[in-house]
Amino acid sequence: MRTGVFIERDGILNRTRLIRGQARPPRTPSELELNYEAKDAITRLKQAGLLIIVTTNQPGISDGSISYRDLDEIHQQMQSFFDLDDILVCPHDESEYCPCHKPRPGMFTEAAWSWNLNLDQSYVISDKWQDSEAAHNLGLTSLMIKNPRIGTGHHDFVLKNIHQAVEKLLVLNKAKTRLAAGKAVI
Ligand SMILES: [Zn+2]
Repeated sequence: MRTGVFIERDGILNRTRLIRGQARPPRTPSELELNYEAKDAITRLKQAGLLIIVTTNQPGISDGSISYRDLDEIHQQMQSFFDLDDILVCPHDESEYCPCHKPRPGMFTEAAWSWNLNLDQSYVISDKWQDSEAAHNLGLTSLMIKNPRIGTGHHDFVLKNIHQAVEKLLVLNKAKTRLAAGKAVI
């Protein structure tokens, strides 16, 4: 089984615009502003042999403010810049009670199935409480970027930025790998 790093999209890989107090994701490719400074962090995770799985709630698909065509184009640009292994989308509104809208577990369990991931050994990097709640329910380790949106629920680690989150993750992962190797010998 493999180890994955689930990464929230908006605010981590791309910037969002604050409109009337709401962080709005890009709706068209021309609105996409990549977080270029996250590139090194993602590359380090890839070099450690980890799978990079992006998950994102995009209710704009459901209400018609974002088209699938534009979303696909945005994701193609992201995938080629960051070298991502997969991007999973919940296109529903929260009120639709689908199984995939975070904090519900659908996207995580789907990726675990299709990529043969061990969720107990996998990680979440995000700046939102929905991801830490899903992580907690599924046994993933959460590394949260400090800001008010992470809420007051359970977090495994809170870090200042994505670079510190990746640094911490790589240390944790090395310790786990060593432990697993030790067990195999015994
Ligand atoms: Zn959904």
